Amino acid sequence: MKAMILEATGSPLRPVERPDPVPGKGELMLRVEACAVCRTDLQVCDGDLASPKLPLVPGHERASSKRSGRESPRCGSDKGSA
Ligand SMILES: [Zn+2]
Repeated sequence: MKAMILEATGSPLRPVERPDPVPGKGELMLRVEACAVCRTDLQVCDGDLASPKLPLVPGHERASSKRSGRESPRCGSDKGSA
């Protein structure tokens, strides 16, 4: 899958290829249809927040459709995003 990563605050995002994730028990795989960048993402990119865990993929506010997964997903499981 394609992703844009932030490796250092104040630097441009860099396009990368990452392996497709595999949903674990109780998780869903979602196809991201659209993704927004919020003020918090901009603060992370600009270095306005202390000690962000880098590298990261900004953009945790998105519209997605279900792609695959198992029954009974947990709420709040959101690997790999800011
Ligand atoms: Zn946000």
